[in-house]
Amino acid sequence: MTRSLLRCLFASCLLITAGVAASAQLKPGRNANQPIDEDYTRRIREYTTEPFFNSPLTDYLPASPTVPTPKSVLGDVAGAPGKLPYSEEVYRYMRLLEKASPRVKVYSIGTTEEGREMIAVAVASEQLLARLDENRSRLAKLADPRTINLNDDEADRLVAASFPIYYITGTIHSTETGSPTALMELAYRLAVDDSAYIKSIRENVVTLITPVVEVDGRDRMVDVYNWHLAHPGENTPPLMYWGHYVAHDNNRDAIGLSLKLTRNVLNTFTGWKAQVLHDLHESVPYLYDNTIGDEPYNAWVDPILTDEWQMIGWNNVSEMTKFGMPGVFAHGTFDTWSPGYLMFIAATHNGISRLYETFGNAGADTLERTLSPAEYQRTWYRQNPPLPKTRWSQRNNNNYQQTALLTSLQYFGSNGKLFLKNFYLKSKRSVLKPKNEGPAAYVLPGDDPRPGNQAELLRTLQAQGVEIHRATAPFTVTIKAKKMSVPPAVAAGSPSGSPTSTESPSASPNASPAPQVVVTVGSSKSDSTTRTFPAGSYILRMDQPYSRIADALLDYQYWAPDDPQTEVYDDTAWTMGELANVGVFRIVDTSVLAAPMERVNGEIRAPSAVIGAGSTFIVNHNADNALITLRYRLKDAEVEAAEEPFEAAGQKFNRGSFIIRKASADNLSRLGTELGIKIYAVAEAPVVKTHAIKPTRVALMHTWLDTQNEGWWRLAFDQLQMPYAYISTQDVAKNDDLKAKYDVIVFAPVGAPPNAIVSGMPMYGNPLPWKTTSLTPNLGRIDSTDDMRPGLGWSGLQNLQKFVQQGGVFITVDDTANFAVTSGFTPGVSIARANKLRAVGDILRMKTVDAASPIAYGYADSLAMYCSNGPIFNLSNLAGGGGARRRSNQRMTGRGTPDDPDTVQGRPPVEPPETPKAEVWEALPLTDEQRRDEVSVIPPSDRPRVVLRYADMKDLFVSGLLDGGDEIAEHAAVIDVPSGRGHVVLFSTNPVWRGQTKGSYFLVFNAILNFDNLNAGRKLQEK
Ligand SMILES: [Zn+2]
Repeated sequence: MTRSLLRCLFASCLLITAGVAASAQLKPGRNANQPIDEDYTRRIREYTTEPFFNSPLTDYLPASPTVPTPKSVLGDVAGAPGKLPYSEEVYRYMRLLEKASPRVKVYSIGTTEEGREMIAVAVASEQLLARLDENRSRLAKLADPRTINLNDDEADRLVAASFPIYYITGTIHSTETGSPTALMELAYRLAVDDSAYIKSIRENVVTLITPVVEVDGRDRMVDVYNWHLAHPGENTPPLMYWGHYVAHDNNRDAIGLSLKLTRNVLNTFTGWKAQVLHDLHESVPYLYDNTIGDEPYNAWVDPILTDEWQMIGWNNVSEMTKFGMPGVFAHGTFDTWSPGYLMFIAATHNGISRLYETFGNAGADTLERTLSPAEYQRTWYRQNPPLPKTRWSQRNNNNYQQTALLTSLQYFGSNGKLFLKNFYLKSKRSVLKPKNEGPAAYVLPGDDPRPGNQAELLRTLQAQGVEIHRATAPFTVTIKAKKMSVPPAVAAGSPSGSPTSTESPSASPNASPAPQVVVTVGSSKSDSTTRTFPAGSYILRMDQPYSRIADALLDYQYWAPDDPQTEVYDDTAWTMGELANVGVFRIVDTSVLAAPMERVNGEIRAPSAVIGAGSTFIVNHNADNALITLRYRLKDAEVEAAEEPFEAAGQKFNRGSFIIRKASADNLSRLGTELGIKIYAVAEAPVVKTHAIKPTRVALMHTWLDTQNEGWWRLAFDQLQMPYAYISTQDVAKNDDLKAKYDVIVFAPVGAPPNAIVSGMPMYGNPLPWKTTSLTPNLGRIDSTDDMRPGLGWSGLQNLQKFVQQGGVFITVDDTANFAVTSGFTPGVSIARANKLRAVGDILRMKTVDAASPIAYGYADSLAMYCSNGPIFNLSNLAGGGGARRRSNQRMTGRGTPDDPDTVQGRPPVEPPETPKAEVWEALPLTDEQRRDEVSVIPPSDRPRVVLRYADMKDLFVSGLLDGGDEIAEHAAVIDVPSGRGHVVLFSTNPVWRGQTKGSYFLVFNAILNFDNLNAGRKLQEK
């Protein structure tokens, strides 16, 4: 309660000091001298369900004798019932506007995965549009203050001569359908309306609009909506695919930049040197400006930005409240921690990130909408809440979107010089980072064992706009050797009094950095040591304008287990060096900036070469992802994997290293260059035990319940050119000879329980088709079915089990591992219920248990992995045996001290036999009594083999939020379970997530490449 009161006061103060500026002077509403489009205006009013769901800014449309209104393309007004335009129609309208008005320009900003165009539409006065280029060159100087030697006077001159850019993006989430029509009409208003209010926007700011961000998904959504219109009274198929790869996670890609839409918006934002990126969503009634959000705020953004959030957000709420529009609010429960959201591109690139949630009906139907109490009740931040029940139309939604945007644009334009100056100041403070908060630089060593993954990480940072240098000679800097220490969770009595705060300190995570990474937390000379980095090391200087994004992505995250924010909105960790399995050093010592270095021009590639001569070629297995591409590209070569480390050509090679024959040196050399791989040619093959690794036939199995998470797997496989068949659980249900077609079936996380995977969607009502028809030309294609409802079914389960028995490998992850365990695929493995574990999208440390397992090839003894409350595995040597293991064997009540045996009175004492002991990740050895139960004892060769486990509690935590970690510490994390002639591989962690976990991909690739030799190196128990 104290916390809320404080926030309340804080917000009010801001409102008084900063929230009211020039904007109040201009009266919103039409210019009486400009005629209105009578028909259009009549329809706006007709489709708006209550007068108070409209504003003086949008309750009319000005007429133009020359400029067409959205009706020219839609056949009705924006937001009309039953009208949902395809992206192509939206673009056609924007281009009609461009043709008819000198105040509109349309730019192509790239294409999507499926080749559809993305556009940005600039709207401003003719005078501003004519000066776009010269303005951009000024903005570029403000964006990179090094170009003006950080001279504030020069910055002021540039600010005075410049106008700002406000970038709006619509419908990234395809089921949130309203923004394209709202943005069509907004563009018209900005170009045509002669009211003082709109003119002031047009003359002071360039509004840049991408009306459809997820273009592939938009067109599919319009198909689904049209199907709905054509099938009245029937159940509508859910939007199973949005973008080509992922659904709502397209708004979690601003870290990994895996999707084209993210890169296109990022390049537009940074290319235009825009000040604002404002993304439109529709999942909260009626307008929630969640930009301001709730704590914890992202720790790497400039405080100037968080003040700007408050200023613009509260102006929005205030203006719309005065219009009499209910349900407009800010703050709410959205935490602003993760930089993964599209809008956050602005926050991490010295701009202003903004996001609206308005209220959509997922289509253009007008519907009776009943809200939950949590949505309509008044709270301190929502003094004028939405109505509990109302008729709601897409037009209402369009009114709210446009009104809010127009008030924002007007406020922003009126205060344009302030925001431009802030833009400069944020950029300047980014350049001054080494001297202020630090660090001075991040260094990625030139001798990293995984140069391929290192180069991949650096390319992502380059795509983020980060400048990278390379050391031309070795250099030495001071680093703080001491491990970062984090105080234990606050004990009981803390203000929040949350249940987690009563944990004993030993149960709270102890932040321990990666063994290969030294985290420096200060420049104090005590506890410091020096380290010399070799020539060729990469240096990410923090005295550059986009230092903030590099710092945010490479640093560690710490979310306190007793943080008052209990509704964590998304992942709590993303530390990219850890997830890429490459070394990253945070250097505070500013002398690093004086190291001899040169700027890297062009994309960073890992070094490659063919070294030596001979017809046998050796490639070290270092778990660089390029190796999977290499194997599949060498289709006709003979490739073997070494089962032990060996030496050859004067080099040490890891287990799993490729020994290649029947490949041409030319071809290998070309591939090595393309993929960044070093290849050693030898005349004589090394003497080491090997097995063949063939281009395995892989299937990726999806459900028709949800394709969101498996999309990241498809994307990873496609990026690395690993071929696979894309099949559904329905295909598996129909095929009783899967082994004839596939060697490995990968089942990525579904987000559904095992029973739902088997049963699918409920079979009530009509079939739900997902296929290409003339009515739905954009559906199907990725995969199709006549009816999405049926699941895997019992036949599918049987077919999968037969597949494994016949020698197939079934790879399961998180909830699909739970599916495999519960469905009886993995005798000897059970899953314990978590009681207090909170591993919320965090990064935890794994330890290698069995380095000889092919799944571990290329990895060292420790690996950081992404974890989201993964299953807690227990092992047993008895089929069906399992359950949670007691961590300590305390003695029973009796005589003596805690270490004493009890003594039975009246007879001589007996020595009890030794109780079996095992590590947490192991199965307990069988007792003689258990061995007598011959039916249940799992033969040693069939017992689960633990490859990786969660680290001990003291080393477990790497980054993010971990609470109750002792529940999962030391438990098995990656298990290979032999079954018949095949194997089931279980992951508790998720090795393939959001394009961010590239360091753990190869655990999956290893299982694939070695599918018929997973028992290699296995040491069997004797009994
Ligand atoms: Zn959304």
